[in-house]
Amino acid sequence: MYKDLEGNTAIITGASSGIGRAMALRFGREKMNVVINYRSGKQEVNSIVQEIEQSGGQAIGVYGDVTREEDVKKLVAAAHEHFGSLDVMVNNAGIENEVPSEDLTLEDWRKVLDVNLTGAFLGCREAIDYMLEHGIKGRIINVSSVHEMIPWPHFVHYAASKGGIKMMTETLALEFAPKGIRVNSLGPGAIDTPINAAKFSDPAAKASVEALIPLGYIGKPEEIAAAAAWLASSESSYVTGITLFADGGMTKYPAFQGGHG
Ligand code: NAD
Repeated sequence: MYKDLEGNTAIITGASSGIGRAMALRFGREKMNVVINYRSGKQEVNSIVQEIEQSGGQAIGVYGDVTREEDVKKLVAAAHEHFGSLDVMVNNAGIENEVPSEDLTLEDWRKVLDVNLTGAFLGCREAIDYMLEHGIKGRIINVSSVHEMIPWPHFVHYAASKGGIKMMTETLALEFAPKGIRVNSLGPGAIDTPINAAKFSDPAAKASVEALIPLGYIGKPEEIAAAAAWLASSESSYVTGITLFADGGMTKYPAFQGGHG
């Protein structure tokens, strides 16, 4: 637990499920105020709000599509109205779909880039604008992926969106460091969430993913939430512009394990 996070206000996009949900619950245990953005899963959001309140934090659910400028502005306005501040912005909402690149439609390309990259840009811009206006030394956390560095055939739109997140994070980190605003990315490996549910329900597909992970297991959303809490806290005060990979070693070329190569 990080004492300095107590009473801080965070927005988490796409927080009704998976990694976003785990981050919301973790921030609640840190006794933070959490704006839980969701595009679906209202019931789930109600139970996350309850759990956060039971653990000493405060929370509200706010519907919104991160690709819509006015919806993202509403998230920041909700943080201000309900909790009087915005200290931590987590751009987590994301989608993926598998398509061989020669068949990828422009519509699908745009949809993934729109949610994963443009949505995160809008979140960064609105949060930073608010933090500058109110003199807040805030923290931005963009949820990227190991696929900001590992190429991923059949997911070119997803990999391109996460590669874009990497340069967006680094550029904004440089731009706003003089104001004390820290901008970092969090790069999960393979994590057990709804985005992967279909794949991991097939034991052979799951085993083929596990073979790519030096630590030998699919990560839990709570392990990503723990990394997010650290990036949000002052324990990471000298860290900006990085991608913190929480990936069980997936980015460390596992094919070379055992002396291969
Ligand atoms: P998830 O599907 O549970 O979560 C994604 C969330 O984003 C969902 O709640 C969904 O409703 C929301 N969302 C989608 N489009 C939205 C929109 N337009 N506006 C608002 N919300 C929207 O999957 P997850 O694994 O928890 O994914 C969270 C993030 O983690 C994503 O950015 C994903 O790319 C990233 N990630 C996940 C993994 C993994 O293995 N699970 C690995 C690397 C990166």
